[in-house]
Amino acid sequence: MKFDLDKLIRDNVKQLKPYSSARDDFKGDASVFLDANENPFPTEYNRYPDPHQKKLKKKIGEIKGVETNQIFLGNGSDEPIDLLIRAFCEPGRDNVLIPQPTYGMYTVSAEVNAVTIKTIPLTHDFDIDVDLTKKTWDVHTKLLFLCSPNNPSGNLLDFDKVQMLLIEFPGIVIVDEAYIDFTNYDGFVPILNSFPNLVILQTLSKAWGLASLRLGMCFASKEIVAVLNKIKPPYNINGITQQIVLKSLEEIEQKNKWVAEIIDAREFVENELVKIPAVQIVYPSQANFILIKIANAKSVYQSLITKGIVVRDRSNVLLCGDCLRITIGTPEENKILISELSNL
Ligand SMILES: *Cc1c(COP(=O)(O)O)cnc(C)c1O
Repeated sequence: MKFDLDKLIRDNVKQLKPYSSARDDFKGDASVFLDANENPFPTEYNRYPDPHQKKLKKKIGEIKGVETNQIFLGNGSDEPIDLLIRAFCEPGRDNVLIPQPTYGMYTVSAEVNAVTIKTIPLTHDFDIDVDLTKKTWDVHTKLLFLCSPNNPSGNLLDFDKVQMLLIEFPGIVIVDEAYIDFTNYDGFVPILNSFPNLVILQTLSKAWGLASLRLGMCFASKEIVAVLNKIKPPYNINGITQQIVLKSLEEIEQKNKWVAEIIDAREFVENELVKIPAVQIVYPSQANFILIKIANAKSVYQSLITKGIVVRDRSNVLLCGDCLRITIGTPEENKILISELSNL
């Protein structure tokens, strides 16, 4: 399938002249800044942050092996999800493909933007159904959202199937790799340049332990990144986030240590869960959470709350009847969970 980015972009976005910030208009060195109506008195935070997050992108580019012009940074992954929909989907006309069950924000963003959603049920082992996906898209389908490892099921989607869809789908394929650090794979970043229609989402919210700072990473062709840059709010990544994330990225060993501990703990929790009689299925996980099917999930959920433990009730979600999603905690937290579940 021939991929034509220009045909996918909404006309208003193509014609848009982006906002030009004071920091864009003047790029040289100066000592007196009277161009942005800032307060001149140094509060530490009186200046606008770098709208292009150059230092951050340089560091992320080094870690991920990606050119800086192929990186877009957002206020969490939520922002690129929303911007992708707004850049490519004409409200009331275009549609997006969203497998179910998956991360809820794709649907929320599409609905906010009055973009039609075509849902595709995942298979019973939560993998993508390629034939059904191909039957479901039409001339107005712009985006296909794939989450791998998938939330809430925890499994990676089959790599070859995703690749097949990347080749055949005429729109943009978004592979959300929020949990990729907890797998044994590098995901799609190493082959980013093989697919002009590939957008990869990753985040600092999970493995890196920085959910509060809101930093989502998006990797794509430089042409797609340019489209997102054109429509983003100019200062979408605040200065404190840029500063702290830059420092954290220097401490990759700490992140790797947490990830190794969480993976060990995941194995412990899995092994303990299968021993509990009420637990009917422990779905294999490559993420930092485990989906289980358990008798009377809703009442189990309530009982855990009375013990001060909160997990995620997914029992109303497609293919997830009687399912709870349990995040891996500290070793102490995991032991408390297992002991309370065993005593129910
Ligand atoms: C947690 C999660 C994210 C992270 O979102 P942020 O906005 O970056 O915090 C993205 N995608 C999926 C599937 C997630 O589960």
